[in-house]
Amino acid sequence: MDPGNRQNVQPLEPSKLSIKSRPLYQPSLEELVDVLEEGLRANFVEVTIGITDCPNFNEQPYNFHREGLCGNPIVFDIGDPAYLLPSAQRDKFYDVKSLLRHLNYNTTDCLVIGAGAGPWPRTGCNCELIMKMHLSPRQEVENATRYAFVGKTPNEECVLHQVPVNEDETTFALLGNLYVCEGRPGQVIGVRAKKRTGNLDFIACMQKALGSRYKDKLVGMGGTFVMRNGMIKQHVMRDFSKTPLNSEAELNNWLRFYEMETPLTAVGTFVSAETDLDLRVQHFHSASDENKLGGHYHIDTTPDTIEYEGYFNVATIIHRVDQPANKLQFGKD
Ligand SMILES: [Zn+2]
Repeated sequence: MDPGNRQNVQPLEPSKLSIKSRPLYQPSLEELVDVLEEGLRANFVEVTIGITDCPNFNEQPYNFHREGLCGNPIVFDIGDPAYLLPSAQRDKFYDVKSLLRHLNYNTTDCLVIGAGAGPWPRTGCNCELIMKMHLSPRQEVENATRYAFVGKTPNEECVLHQVPVNEDETTFALLGNLYVCEGRPGQVIGVRAKKRTGNLDFIACMQKALGSRYKDKLVGMGGTFVMRNGMIKQHVMRDFSKTPLNSEAELNNWLRFYEMETPLTAVGTFVSAETDLDLRVQHFHSASDENKLGGHYHIDTTPDTIEYEGYFNVATIIHRVDQPANKLQFGKD
């Protein structure tokens, strides 16, 4: 946080943004269990997957201010890494509350979780967004959102900022991959995986399984997972680069990579394919209130000991908001 550097930038008006809404193919949870299990078993020694009731997501380590992942589930792919690269486009500033109102998704309680870039005009500095919030039908916010920053100390330790629970802060910058539902209890897919022997991360093995099974259909999922008993490679964006980032190497040099301690709790989305909507196929950010860490999930670095526990639901619609005219050539991982 750099509150002295706050900027008076207003979120883009949803009615002025391009929004492409597309129904998603919704396999049954039974079928998805089979598909995802195959991907997980190719990558992990111990896998337990099935249909299960949501744990109470009101409680730690989730802290969603809603009980479940069910009720009218949708996914958003908003903005794009193309608005970050090669240089940050400072007008790309969004408000999820006004987007949901614009889409008439505001008459019910809703849970918003996901990954994106934090609202630099409010924080005064670019950061990672770990969005978790409950919006009531009266548009009141219960916030559990976290921002992860690269600390301005010599060794650049990660700094986690906790948005106060009653703060009406629903904005973010540049890009976001969000899962929205009514936050009701219900049945979802529960996954436990241990001892990674494949090269894919926890989400990639499931995302690729969706991609190879549903070749001509688009499937979208969202949810959360907890990582325990290991270390996790995550990145945090530094403040905006003063020079353009023109290659993967320049991007990776600008990002600050960390090996973070667990437990970490992640939120985000994954879809079966990029399609003509130029979707980001997976995007999860995680944080730990205990260790005051957070960032963009890449993979565990302790495959022998790592344990994942995840809960996911399948969405009915995807809204692609503000898709750029030109497809980005690098930087979508
Ligand atoms: Zn990210």
